[in-house]
Amino acid sequence: MAAPAPSSAGIVHPDDRQIVEKLAKLQDMYQQIGALRTLLPEKLINPTRFALDNPDGYDPEKLAAFLQGAAQAGSRDIGKFKRDWHSENVRGLWHTVNTNELPQGADAWTVDYELLARETGAKDDRKAAINAADDQFQLPTQADTAKIVNDFRARYPALKIKVSNEVDILPIDLNVAHLDFCVDRDQTSGNAQYTVKGRPTNQPSLLRDEIVKTIHASDGATGLADILDILAAYRDIKTRPCDKCSKLFSNTKLQLPLIRRLKTGVGEKEPQFVALHRDCA
Ligand SMILES: [Zn+2]
Repeated sequence: MAAPAPSSAGIVHPDDRQIVEKLAKLQDMYQQIGALRTLLPEKLINPTRFALDNPDGYDPEKLAAFLQGAAQAGSRDIGKFKRDWHSENVRGLWHTVNTNELPQGADAWTVDYELLARETGAKDDRKAAINAADDQFQLPTQADTAKIVNDFRARYPALKIKVSNEVDILPIDLNVAHLDFCVDRDQTSGNAQYTVKGRPTNQPSLLRDEIVKTIHASDGATGLADILDILAAYRDIKTRPCDKCSKLFSNTKLQLPLIRRLKTGVGEKEPQFVALHRDCA
């Protein structure tokens, strides 16, 4: 295993020295484990296999001496690893690891600026589109809204959808993948468009917030039927791998495939969506 380049000792601040020493111990343990993993296959099994495959190609005494040396060195390495593992130092390390909530590495950026920039751009575009369409647009009637909800119920009988009452219909509560969403008229669009948010009375959920952000950032879904359909498309968010990289979690940010993009031209009863990570979109 290649050792990382040594860093200059002057760089470490005295306050950080303890942390650096702990990391150094962890690194040492890691390297010991790496060396032990190769003990059996590389030092003991492979030479033996070579000897068995080539009965004339080796000197039995030399092989025996080699194997004996490798086994004894390996046994010493295992002994050292065990002593280190049970040492005060490493026990202290495990204690730190087990008693602290260590971040999983997704917290380096508390704000996703990339998404924020994209959202701002998309909102401006949408506003322009709404203004242009205002003249011809007619507000949906309550009967239209009720029909959309009933069609939705028929398409996704397993999803819990609750209208505020049978007359006003809106806002609509919808539970998808154990996440509570609320769909209502978008007050900023002269009530002609719809918007989705997490149900405020429920516990905060990072995943739900990410889904809402993604729906808002996507083009298109501003009509009630569209919004309900795209929400329904998240019912498998916790299990459906990305259609591009085939993984559930993205490599870089450990995110689920948050994007649901409508497949066009598919003659199915319910709309079909492609699932993608943001990085794969
Ligand atoms: Zn992907």
